[in-house]
Amino acid sequence: MAAVSLESVSKVYPGGVRAVRDLRLHVRDGELLVLLGPSGCGKSTILRIIAGLEEPSSGELWLDDQPATDLPPRERNVAMVFQNGALYPHRSIHGNLAFPLELAGEDPAEIRAKVVELSRALQIDQALDRLPGSLSGGQRQRVAMGRAIIREPSVFLMDEPLSNLDAALRTDLRLEIGALVRGLGVTTVYVTHDQVEALTLADRIAVLRDGRLEDLGTPTQVYEDP
Ligand code: ADP
Ligand code: ADP
Repeated sequence: MAAVSLESVSKVYPGGVRAVRDLRLHVRDGELLVLLGPSGCGKSTILRIIAGLEEPSSGELWLDDQPATDLPPRERNVAMVFQNGALYPHRSIHGNLAFPLELAGEDPAEIRAKVVELSRALQIDQALDRLPGSLSGGQRQRVAMGRAIIREPSVFLMDEPLSNLDAALRTDLRLEIGALVRGLGVTTVYVTHDQVEALTLADRIAVLRDGRLEDLGTPTQVYEDP
């Protein structure tokens, strides 16, 4: 089963930039797919189309094998984190993680239990009462990821989540992201321009160039086959 299917998707921005060209891509249930390519090749546009923040100019999107091209973002079971996962500065870490569940009207005791459990998996359970401003960049990014996945989306999108961190933190957090999303079994599309990230994280890598799919396969297939 495909969690996400893009069928002949193209995106032309006003002004004529062709960001995505006739893309056919199926993300399998539960896999971690990395979209790899240089800046400007269309990676973020593809994520925004999956999230519903951008409409394709042509082609179709399917989510969990249901037509989703015209589905409003709120009705998609999709969560996204950005480079600078912005947090609510005046809410504690607990408050940040709890927010999506509060919006959904969940029971406070259940919210507390879910927040504590997820914060342990993310190794931020010691920081639940602190404000975002007192955390390190790596901790803040963990909170942003936690807030995105706490409602258990069927698709998790990450747009260069490590790009604003220093090298040592990047390695640590990369390993944790891999463990976290595999532990949750959530279908994940991860955008990066970093080959090492792609190689070490991906179940499969989709290599993009100028809005086109250039290669698609496991890290071994992409890097070792001619
Ligand atoms: P990447 O994520 O790989 O850096 P993007 O999807 O952000 O690529 O951008 C692909 C191309 O589309 C680039 O040429 C970029 O300048 C252009 N682009 C992105 N967003 C817009 C927009 N809102 N309006 C016009 N052009 C855009
Ligand atoms: P990234 O390279 O990480 O995709 P950018 O700095 O290219 O980020 O883009 C940041 C924001 O600016 C995005 O929301 C994108 O849609 C928008 N954008 C990018 N290129 C253009 C463009 N040529 N015209 C208008 N908006 C753009």
